[in-house]
Formats: sequence, structure tokens, C-alpha cells
Amino acid sequence: MTIPSLRDTTDADIKEIQQLLEDDRPFVRFPPAIESAFHLHLQNRAIELLNHSWWAIVGFYIFIGILTWSQVQAYSNPVLLEQNEKVWWVIYLMEGAIVAALLSLPRIPQLDKWYRNYVSLIALTAVATITVGTSAFPDPFFNQHSSYVVILVIAITYGIGGLLLVPAVIACVGAALISFVVIHLLGLWYNWGHFSQYVVLANAVGMLLCYMLEHRDRIMFLQSEMLGLEKLKLNKLSQELNRLSREDALTGLANRRHFNEVFQQEWDRARRDSRDVALIFVDVDHFKPFNDSHGHAEGDRALALVGKALKSVLRRPGDMAARYGGEEFVLLLPSTSLDGAREVALHVARSISALKIAHAASSVASHVTVSMGVASMVPRGDLRGPMLLARVDEAVYAAKHAGRNCIMLVHPDGTVDTSPVRLP
Ligand code: GH3
Ligand code: MG
Ligand code: MG
Repeated sequence: MTIPSLRDTTDADIKEIQQLLEDDRPFVRFPPAIESAFHLHLQNRAIELLNHSWWAIVGFYIFIGILTWSQVQAYSNPVLLEQNEKVWWVIYLMEGAIVAALLSLPRIPQLDKWYRNYVSLIALTAVATITVGTSAFPDPFFNQHSSYVVILVIAITYGIGGLLLVPAVIACVGAALISFVVIHLLGLWYNWGHFSQYVVLANAVGMLLCYMLEHRDRIMFLQSEMLGLEKLKLNKLSQELNRLSREDALTGLANRRHFNEVFQQEWDRARRDSRDVALIFVDVDHFKPFNDSHGHAEGDRALALVGKALKSVLRRPGDMAARYGGEEFVLLLPSTSLDGAREVALHVARSISALKIAHAASSVASHVTVSMGVASMVPRGDLRGPMLLARVDEAVYAAKHAGRNCIMLVHPDGTVDTSPVRLP
């Protein structure tokens, strides 16, 4: 079971955790969301521990068995030895069943949501059976002697049972009361003075231990959550910085640096696979006059709209649109022939003219237009990426000379066409 999300917490939650840590109250109970995350954290930790260290628990059970069996042999009144042995077997097998339950239930994930309940019940049963069981020894000396094991089981319940203070107290005090009643009902012999002393003492020590462990766990949980949240914040920040370092702020397209990186990768890949790479260089016509007559802010708005139009033209996942410079854009189209790139360029021209951005100072049209250079090449021999870029730039220059608002193609041999593709 995973811990419910403290991960999508806000700054207010971070402050709340910080406040709890600063307060450091003697007994902390967290606000509900953190409290339930804390419980799940403890539960996951306990289940993991039980599942991984089953061998240590089984080893401990066998060790205690050998130890107490030898005590039965060493301290029993010889007349009562056989009966003591019988009682020992009953207790030992019952505790064995409890250990088996403790080790097997956490392996059933469907029961995880009842973990706290069944572990408390197991603890209560363990303490009650050992308390009643030790009182069932017919040998008064041994009866008293074996009752020390009850202290051990109570200490285990409080200290290493993984229970919080309240369920641990309920389990141990509840078990003492149940044992008291059962011992009475079964008419078993007990030294009540002795019983109450060690049960009270064991519970008092156990509670103190349990409280200290719980308090430490709570503080450590808050600290680790804080670290997690801080880390999350840093990750988000670094993702944001990463995005900003690759993105052009005005248009949201890739910036020139990111384009250069991706273009180099695509160029290398195309060389390996003997595929073609196409570039379309787009330059807005008469943009300086546009700024002069419409104002710089309007110019910015126009560039953002052109960027959006360029992005909307791209269809394939590997295609990329970037802002190369002020009013210059470039489209990268991997595995695209010259014919295919020419089609895309026509689509770009149509999309930009459909924006109908009024251009009062243009000699070409009444709205914003662009001139484009288009090339597609298979990287061979000593042909380098920047050469392709230089060719499309050259083609744009030629398109400007040819009257703007047109497309100029670069032939596969690298020469720029002499007649532009006029836009319909
Ligand atoms: P041509 O048709 O020959 O391309 O003419 P042009 O005026 O577009 O070319 P030129 O390169 O002389 O001018 C480009 C202008 O683009 C210069 C600058 O004022 C404008 N520009 C560049 N970046 C931005 C920007 O981020 N915002 C705005 N508003 N204008 C920009
Ligand atoms: Mg320019
Ligand atoms: Mg221009």
C-alpha cells in the first residue's frame, strides 16, 4: 500500500509541518491528512519488517522455547514435572499459533487496511494467553518463575511490536483485565500481589518506552516529509529552469539553442539511417516597418501568433518549430523529402495569411506575410548540419530578392532554385 499523497501538498502544508516541528509538543497528534499518512508509513514499515525478518522472529521463538523448556526441566518439582511439561506445551503451541498469524497475515495485501486492528488483537491475545498460561502451572514455584516471561511479552508488545501508544496500552491493559477474569473463572492459582506488581511495572516501563519511540517516530516522519517536499520543490524548480532554458518566452516555441541540439541529434540519426532531413526557414516580411507603424507591443503579439500558427502546422511527433532569432523561425522535419517539406511550407504560408494580421507598411500585402527557404538532404560524406542551415538561409535571402511572400527551394545538389514558389 502506498502512502497517500502528501506529495501534491501546497506551501501551506509545508508551513504546517514546519510549525509542528517547531512546536515540538510533548505528545503530537497531527492534523488528519498527516496523521493518516503517518499511520500508513508506520504500517508499511512494520509490514516490511515482519516480511523480511520472519527468520529472526522464528529464531527468537525457538530460542525462547529451548530456554523455557530447560527452565521447566531445571526448576520444576520432580513430582509435578510431567504436568508442568504438559502446560508448557499448551502455552508454547498457542504462542506458536500467534507467531504464525503475525508472520502470515501481513503477507496478504488485502488485509493491510485492517493491519492495526489485527496486530492489536494479536498482541492482546499473546499477552492474555501467556498470562493465563503461566498461571496454569500446577507447581507454585514454577508458576511464579514463569511469570517473568509475561514481562518479556509485555515489553515486546510495547517496544518492538510497532504499535502506537494507545493501541499498545489497550492491548496490554486489556489483556491484563481479561487474564484476571479468565484466571478467576478457571479457578487457577495465582499470587495476585506478585501479579499486580509485575504487570503494573511492566506496563509502566512499556508505556514510557512506547511513548518515547512514538514521539521519535513522529518527529522523524515530519522531518522526512519535509525533506521529501523540499526535494519535490527543487525538482519542480529544476524542471521549470530546464524548460525555460529550452523555450522561447514570447512564442513558447523551442529557442535557438534547443533547436541546435535537436537538429544535431536528428542530423546524426539521419546519417546513420540514410534518411533525409528537411528544414524550412521562415522570415517575416518587412517586420521592422511593422514595428514602426504598429508599435513594438503589436509586433510581439504578431510574432506570438506566427509562432502558434507554425506549431499548428506540424503533424509528426519528431517535427519541431523553433524561434531562431527576432522574426526568424525554423521548422525541423525529420525523414521528410523536398516535396513533403514544400507542402508543409505552403501550409505555413496559408496558416499565416489566414491570421490576417494587418500590416500597414508592407509592400507585399495588406497583412503579415513570410518568405521561406526550404531544403531537404540526406547527410552524406562531409555534409554538415550547419551547411543545410546556411542553404535555407541563402534561399530566404533569394526569396526576399524575388519579391517576398514566396518560397524558395534548395535543390538536392545544394543550389538555390531561381524561380520562387508563389503563394496562391
Ligand atoms: P525583411 O522583409 O527583409 O525581412 O525585412 P525586415 O524588416 O523583417 O528585416 P530586418 O531583419 O531588417 O528586421 C527585423 C525586425 O524584427 C527588427 C526588429 O525590430 C524586429 N524584431 C526582432 N525581434 C523582435 C521582437 O521580439 N519583437 C518585436 N516586436 N520585433 C522584433
Ligand atoms: Mg530577418
Ligand atoms: Mg524579416
